[in-house]
Amino acid sequence: MTHPKILRLILGDQLNILHTWFQGDQSSYTYVMMEIKSESLYVTHHIQKILGFFSAMRQFNKELIALGCEVKYISIADATNQHDFQKNIQYLLNQEGFEKFEYQLPDEYRLDQILQNLNLSVRVSTCDTEHFYTTRNELAEIFKGKKQLLMESFYRKMRTKHQVLMDGTEPLHGKWNFDHDNRNKIPVNHTPPAPLLFDHDLSSIHDEIKQAELPSIGQVDSKHFSWPINREESLELLEYFAKNLIDQFGTFQDAMTPHFWSMYHARLSFSMNIKLIHPHEVVNRIVEEYNLRPNDIAYHQVEGFVRQILGWREYMRGIYWMHMPDFSTTNFLQHQNKLPEWFWTGKTKMACLQHSIQQSLQYAYAHHIQRLMVTGNFALLAGVDPDQVDQWYLGIYIDAIEWVEITNTRGMSQFADGGIVATKPYISSAAYIDKMSHYCGNCYYKKSEKVGEKACPFTSLYWHFLFRHQEKFAKNPRMTMMYAVWNKMNPEMQESIIAQAEKYLNQIDTL
Ligand code: FAD
Ligand code: SF4
Repeated sequence: MTHPKILRLILGDQLNILHTWFQGDQSSYTYVMMEIKSESLYVTHHIQKILGFFSAMRQFNKELIALGCEVKYISIADATNQHDFQKNIQYLLNQEGFEKFEYQLPDEYRLDQILQNLNLSVRVSTCDTEHFYTTRNELAEIFKGKKQLLMESFYRKMRTKHQVLMDGTEPLHGKWNFDHDNRNKIPVNHTPPAPLLFDHDLSSIHDEIKQAELPSIGQVDSKHFSWPINREESLELLEYFAKNLIDQFGTFQDAMTPHFWSMYHARLSFSMNIKLIHPHEVVNRIVEEYNLRPNDIAYHQVEGFVRQILGWREYMRGIYWMHMPDFSTTNFLQHQNKLPEWFWTGKTKMACLQHSIQQSLQYAYAHHIQRLMVTGNFALLAGVDPDQVDQWYLGIYIDAIEWVEITNTRGMSQFADGGIVATKPYISSAAYIDKMSHYCGNCYYKKSEKVGEKACPFTSLYWHFLFRHQEKFAKNPRMTMMYAVWNKMNPEMQESIIAQAEKYLNQIDTL
């Protein structure tokens, strides 16, 4: 009996060698992977992100060949590359007489649409990526008929369903959430372990990218590319995290400092998002390490980490599929301002923003609180158009893929969704940034001044935000304290603060 010849597409973020596709007899299948220009042009990406994707795809190609799979790899410089999914796929179907085309369901709405609309000469079928704890629509089913989609309830259901950190039906150690034990400032002379960096010479891929004239942002030393680009390295990074960093992960999860760009965070988001490793593997390995070293690793470190992956990561994916495509155009606060120029250079006198942005340009990475409470907080206070904020976040981080970027940016950070993800806007004045960081001490601006030439812009913009949006938020029970403080201020001070904020908004590019 002859087998049908089947062509299978692997997207750049579907590098999951454990997928059932790659088990069993491979004689019917040919895999296709392609580096196409449109995927590098829908937003201007960080150069490390383009290099990271292309090099990981090329490594995956080699791994498949080593497994005995037949692969058609269409590189960016390939003369037959038509830089279009439809054209490249149909070309292969014609050339090789395939009888069927298969793909794994993409995680991005945009790609989902492109693939659904392919007009091919053969039968098409799809399957799951087998990567997440949840299916695409599981969150929508869990919250059916409910008004509020609370992450906390979802997380508890996930813990129970997948029996992670559970004691039967009860949470381990009697509580679901140990967040209050986390979140300290980093002590002044504290030195975290050095980050585990890899060393790849990607200069020839970099040359191909330049020749193809793909636009990019950020810096790279392409002779010494430091991100993991295959499964083995991703597992090594996970191992490094388990052995050296989880012990203090929660404690310093929100801490910020100009001295270290990487402290106790896992930096596994890129590996997980392109599916080199599975979230199960990450969660299970950390729980295993906790069981091996219960005297070294406090439980709150582990619970805090599991919450990020089993909770937030899956929750964001569920929100994405529940609310796209509408989510991508939400602008609840009607913010229309332009993103300040210095978001692209880091050239601002505000030390917190300067460090967070320059670090992002240099490493294509910033941790969650830098993204949420420094860059995101500023953009929100300054009333920047969420489209522009999205473009920035989708471009600059190596881990930025729309399903997890847009839900964090428009939802959690910019409140553009009107409260689907967050119950109140994540905003703060200088007080929070100073509490969690060592930025303010060396800043041109003064953290405790509300008005005047050197007043910290975060503070007046914070009050300006609350003032201009009071109709929307004054009755929010989680914000009554903030409004009570504002209402207690004397009217002259209120007026000066608003005038200060407006002055800053009018000269935002010079701050
Ligand atoms: P750790 O702090 O070590 O956390 C471990 C893992 O938990 C991460 O690798 C990630 O997979 C998961 N995680 C933690 N927080 C979140 C979250 N809020 N949502 C989803 N997963 C989470 N994450 C991305 O993967 N891609 C993005 O494009 C992205 N954009 C963001 C934009 C904004 C404005 C904000 C506030 C957050 C964004 N995040 C994004 C979430 C989070 O900041 C990153 O996942 C995290 O910083 C990645 O670094 P890490 O691996 O060292 O994470
Ligand atoms: Fe940022 Fe204000 Fe602190 Fe300067 S003083 S680092 S601008 S919070």
